[in-house]
Amino acid sequence: MSRKKRKKIEQLIDLIMDDGSLRDLLPDLGVFIIDYTDKRMITNDVWKDLEYSDSHTYERSWSQYVHPEDRKRVEASQRDVIEGRTDYFREVYRLKEHSGGWRWIASRGSVILRNSDGSPWIFIGVDEDLTRIKEAQEEASLRAREAGTLSATIEVITSSLDLDETVQCILEQARRLVPYDRATVQILHDGKLQVLGGMGFSDINMVTNLRFPYPEEGSLSTRAIQERHPWVSNNVQDDFPRFVQVENGEPARSWIGVPLIAHGDIIGLISFDSLKKAFYTRRHLELARAFAGPVAIALENARMHGETYKLAMVDALTGIGSRHAFDLNSRFLFEKARREERMISMAMLDLDRFKEVNDDFGHQVGDIVLKDVSKSCEEGLRTTDTIARYGGEEIAILLPDTRVEVAADIIERIRKDVSHLHFEGVDRSVTISAGVSGCSPDRDSSLTEIIREADAALYRAKAQGRNCIVVH
Ligand code: GH3
Ligand code: MG
Ligand code: MG
Repeated sequence: MSRKKRKKIEQLIDLIMDDGSLRDLLPDLGVFIIDYTDKRMITNDVWKDLEYSDSHTYERSWSQYVHPEDRKRVEASQRDVIEGRTDYFREVYRLKEHSGGWRWIASRGSVILRNSDGSPWIFIGVDEDLTRIKEAQEEASLRAREAGTLSATIEVITSSLDLDETVQCILEQARRLVPYDRATVQILHDGKLQVLGGMGFSDINMVTNLRFPYPEEGSLSTRAIQERHPWVSNNVQDDFPRFVQVENGEPARSWIGVPLIAHGDIIGLISFDSLKKAFYTRRHLELARAFAGPVAIALENARMHGETYKLAMVDALTGIGSRHAFDLNSRFLFEKARREERMISMAMLDLDRFKEVNDDFGHQVGDIVLKDVSKSCEEGLRTTDTIARYGGEEIAILLPDTRVEVAADIIERIRKDVSHLHFEGVDRSVTISAGVSGCSPDRDSSLTEIIREADAALYRAKAQGRNCIVVH
């Protein structure tokens, strides 16, 4: 650079430094000028806000305020400029505020004049505070991550139709959105909030099947349900002194309760506890709410599936197995017996002259009789046996691991028990007839065959005068 040009730059800097209006305008634009040699400078607003002294700048020690993760990079760029490898400086970094927080700063500038030894004399640069932009970016990426988590979570929790499995899954997945120390899923049933499952408790048996009254004066759960809105308490002890602390150890200090609403009805509540005071934020609440919708549907589906399953497998009038259940179970048990080369027996029971019971006492009484007889039969069996209402007033029984003689004894005992039953408004005893058949491993037979044999034996029992059993 020519002497003449250097002189001109010096004069320009003098002019700027002395000119009041320029000294005002440049900092507004984020411009700063450092005259290292004469220790003069124009600081911009970014630096003024940070309240660092000028000497840090002259001594080039400002990098000590740069975030440790950014410092190495910034100092390397700074050295390149000072040692003359380049005139340009361009970095984005975090700078410590006096309050202790961090501001994102983008700096770019250039040395425009050097001393004869090559050290910087005049440096002109521009700083921009990117903190707001960075925050917005982080917020956006956090939201995107949360949205991803939420949809993945929803997929997982709706994948099972088993109620217990669904509850566990809900609690596991919830943790990814709303951090907690303990959480429960509760179902509103018969004026009580019943805990279906929990997570984070030292002994899960202490919580499952725990029942909280509903509605309860002042209760946080009651408030959440009545308002149909998630409820947060960041000071549980003050907000609801009677809060039930299930655990003996550290108490829950922060709490979020989200009502579970499926098809417009409140079906329960999911609660999150934190041991830290003032732990839950608005964002947690929003996420909990977003999560609760699908959770309610998943729970309702699992519950309905359970009920549908029950409807299909259990006979509504008698409470014993349905014909459908018998078809499924018997096939399974018969195959198993064949495979394991074990005995299996079959009995077919039919109420005697039941039409007369109906005719004499009415169909409703007949229903009660049928129900009581079924119950009595069931009580005479082992849990491994299968009993089902096979037809109108016909009962089928399958007895795994049982020789036909033993089965005959069991059914005979049942027959006797039934004959001793009393029914309200019925002035006579009700009896059953039964046919029993069996299948030993050495016999090549099928399930259909042993059912047919039991049926044939039953027919003979009827022919022999009823209230008796016949073994095929
Ligand atoms: P038996 O078996 O001894 O030959 O005479 P029964 O009168 O029982 O004759 P059958 O088994 O053929 O008749 C079945 C009767 O059972 C017909 C029907 O009125 C009655 N029944 C079947 N299902 C039900 C039911 O769900 N409730 C009531 N109350 N009665 C039923
Ligand atoms: Mg009958
Ligand atoms: Mg019949």
